[in-house]
Amino acid sequence: MTSAHSGAALVHDPDCLFCKIVQRKIPSRTVYEDDEIYAFHDIHPWAPVHFLLIPKTHIPSMAQVGAEQGELLGRIMALVPKLALQEGCNPYPQGGFRIVANTGSEGGQEVAHLHFHVMGGPRPWLRG
Ligand code: AMP
Ligand code: ZN
Repeated sequence: MTSAHSGAALVHDPDCLFCKIVQRKIPSRTVYEDDEIYAFHDIHPWAPVHFLLIPKTHIPSMAQVGAEQGELLGRIMALVPKLALQEGCNPYPQGGFRIVANTGSEGGQEVAHLHFHVMGGPRPWLRG
């Protein structure tokens, strides 16, 4: 599969949970999808709204990101406000949302495929 945006072929790691989700080998609840990006609900939400935004191609974490991923990351970030409202986050400034990218073991990352948590909705939250 190729991308209309970057022209780069998607790379999947056969042992990666989120690559399996992108390939529909493991089910997920879709929030958004295009040729480069997938968003789905977190299976263990910390907040009333909690979804994950990922590149479809396998990038292990933010530690592997460089200037060549700038456009892709920009597209992911630009989707956040629209998807947050769509999924039920309240409008800024009383509402809003939190974006988290855990990176590496000491950064609290459990799944080694770059992902951005987007959390929001009325407090209290379970975590975060
Ligand atoms: P992190 O600790 O930042 O690596 O976050 C990984 C996140 O993936 C956690 O919040 C998990 O609840 C979530 N997660 C794990 N497996 C699944 C799955 N099959 N579907 C949706 N979310 C998942
Ligand atoms: Zn992956």
